[in-house]
Amino acid sequence: MKIAVLTSGGDSAGMNAVVRAVVKVGILKGCEAWVVREGYEGLVRGNTEALSEQAIDDEPINLPDNASTDGSNFNLIHNLRFGDGDLLKDGTGDHPGTRSLKGRYIVRVGFDDVRGWFAEGGTLIGTARSKTFRTAEGRLQAAYNMIKEGIDALVVCGGDGSLTGADVFRAEWPKLIESLQSEGRITAEKAKLHAHLRIVGLVGSIDNDMSMTDLTIGAPTALHRICEAIDNINSTASSHSRAFVLEVMGRHCGWLALLAGVSGGADFIFIPERPPTSESWEDEMCDCIHRHREVGKRKTIVIVSEGAIDRNLNPIKADHVKDVLTERLGLDTRVTTLGHTQRGGRPCAYDRVLPTLQGMEAVEALLEATPTSPSYMIGIRENKITRVPLMEAVEMTRAVSSAIEAKDFEKAMSFRDPEFKESFEGFLKISTLDHEKVPEEQRMRIAIMHMGAPAGGMNAATRAAVRYCIRHGHTPIAVHNGFRGLLDDEIHELSWLGVDSWTARGGSELGTNRMLPSVDLGAIASKFQEHQFHGLLMIGGFEAFSSLLILEEGRKHYPAFHIPMVHLPATISNNVPMTEWSLGSDTSLNALVDACDAIKQSASASRNRVFVVETQGGKCGYIATVGALATGASLVYTPEQGIDLDTLRRDVRFLKTRYTLDAKGRSEGRLVIKNEVASQVYTTDVMQKMLKEEGGTLFDARSASLGHTLQGGVPSPMDRARAVRLSIKCMAFLEREHIKLLKQPSKARHATPDSAAVIIIQSSSLKWVPVQEMVAHADMKNRRGNNPWWAGIKELAETLAGRPQLIGLH
Ligand code: ATP
Repeated sequence: MKIAVLTSGGDSAGMNAVVRAVVKVGILKGCEAWVVREGYEGLVRGNTEALSEQAIDDEPINLPDNASTDGSNFNLIHNLRFGDGDLLKDGTGDHPGTRSLKGRYIVRVGFDDVRGWFAEGGTLIGTARSKTFRTAEGRLQAAYNMIKEGIDALVVCGGDGSLTGADVFRAEWPKLIESLQSEGRITAEKAKLHAHLRIVGLVGSIDNDMSMTDLTIGAPTALHRICEAIDNINSTASSHSRAFVLEVMGRHCGWLALLAGVSGGADFIFIPERPPTSESWEDEMCDCIHRHREVGKRKTIVIVSEGAIDRNLNPIKADHVKDVLTERLGLDTRVTTLGHTQRGGRPCAYDRVLPTLQGMEAVEALLEATPTSPSYMIGIRENKITRVPLMEAVEMTRAVSSAIEAKDFEKAMSFRDPEFKESFEGFLKISTLDHEKVPEEQRMRIAIMHMGAPAGGMNAATRAAVRYCIRHGHTPIAVHNGFRGLLDDEIHELSWLGVDSWTARGGSELGTNRMLPSVDLGAIASKFQEHQFHGLLMIGGFEAFSSLLILEEGRKHYPAFHIPMVHLPATISNNVPMTEWSLGSDTSLNALVDACDAIKQSASASRNRVFVVETQGGKCGYIATVGALATGASLVYTPEQGIDLDTLRRDVRFLKTRYTLDAKGRSEGRLVIKNEVASQVYTTDVMQKMLKEEGGTLFDARSASLGHTLQGGVPSPMDRARAVRLSIKCMAFLEREHIKLLKQPSKARHATPDSAAVIIIQSSSLKWVPVQEMVAHADMKNRRGNNPWWAGIKELAETLAGRPQLIGLH
């Protein structure tokens, strides 16, 4: 099969990763891969010039003995040697010595033509809004151009417009073929051969505005850009005690504004789906911000979505918001319109992993497509890659806009995923000073503690917990420095304002410690009693999990532990059993991607060089594995799989083969990602020396240990938003369990095992697991969970580096 991929509509980060994945997986599956430049416009223009240069390097090559890319992978070798590896890199294809793209919009590409593409923002194959493709003649010409090159399978990455175009094209295809045949432009044989068009859509859109998928490609990166801007503005706003009104993208969808509000710690947001409830949004906003100022806030951040409206559908514009804040509250207010900076820049880790997985699924869907199957859109739902009928998703998306136009805001919200609604409610809970105090007797003193190593999002979670407590009339108590600090009475009450700027802070504001309560359980119990804790929130990694287990077991002897207790997983290792994500796991992945992009650049700049990059992660291979997928590493070593001589011998052969197959005159950097404890014997140092020795004249080797840089300086927006969502759930859990206990006689309260629980994320929904039950899913010796979801990703990452025989993809 010949598969072509195009990007269309507004560009978004991650589109290159889609092209890379479709090309690589397509070739690995035995297909020819093509790209269409300039979206649908390129299809319409087609190829007016013949291929200018020899695209296949047919000089014989001597593969190393026992080359791991063997003869059975002829197609791969052929495709590796097809192209020059630099095609389109500068967006024009006009590199000296490479194929010229002049007059060619539909271009065959080789495996290595798309190497390293996913570190680049935008789309390297160009995108456009094509008026001609909207016309029947335009689509007829597009069909002709495709058939001329023998292509009848298409992957389209774009917004709802582009996907509609795809659907129209597919529906019309038989008619187009008939016309082309009757006009004598194609033969009957060709008409028969290309009777059906296979088409698959991927959603590339920074607004996250498509229904039936939880995330669109490019939205997480845009959120990164917005949060960076808010973090920068925060310091200047605070210095001058100013107000800032930020306009962000999102004509019909408030996802960016909402998530930016939650993760950037904004005071007020305006989104299209949920306008302010009162008739006068001006009063509502001013009242809220006035109260913030009254308690001593020096800065004000208001976020306005591009499509923000009031209850009567009148647009709410940033300049008007500014005038209101200036005139009514006397605030020195500035407007910042982020505009196209939101689209730009390097894709974040998620916008590399998601498009890669979705691109792979798109190829599968094309291969399985039949004349009667619908065109699919590839989405992601509950952390699983999905296929949904394309037009159903487009119609559902339009239904949101219709609901807004009909002022049915409840309906508009209900069309968004449940996380959207929860995030909105969460935002209100932690950003306003309204009170929803619970009855006096239900009010609690809640201890909040950080455990283990710092992880991105710990402080954001604490901020959310504190604000929830205050809103509900509870007392939030910081326990500094873990159980050590508790024994030393390092505790103090936290305030609403005191935690205001904690969202963007990395590290741990409370201080953490690895000491387990078992060190002196009796003394810990007496401190619980002395400080009259009614509930405990522990934010941390495996230590927090182990501590909760110890405290729960300690209930047999110490009544002070008969209070509700929760563990909110936060660790860069992501090694807490059962949960798919911990706070900090996204931040660390981004830190890894940043470091590896820089390392790879240096590795390619000098000569062929392999970099062995060592990651943290303890005995859990999460960062190494998912990091390998996000950075395009060639090999990955994890503690779960270990390293032995056979593996090393095979891997060295693989690297030699890859360097032998590289285009002549091109210097390539390659990454090998290795977890710090993947092997006691084959350490990073040993490995680097071995590769250097074995690489001979083919490649050199160096190593880099990322160490604590993986904790990341600033928490990622994803970790911050997750922190808020989880933390609020934790607080509600403590309240619920406390009320249950209050029903028992005060002298002999007995907490059930369920009241000591861990909050976990599974398939994007949140669940509570009693800590005792978690044990069955934990490898306590190696401090990690059993059967993690990322187990299969190692093979996928290595396969995309050109090693198909491992998983039988060929
Ligand atoms: P964004 O989210 O950035 O707006 P989009 O994909 O929705 O992206 P559009 O401009 O709506 O952007 O569509 C991109 C292109 O898709 C159009 O320029 C046109 O070529 C094609 N297209 C859109 N709708 C149709 C349609 N109904 N029929 C044929 N082609 C269409």
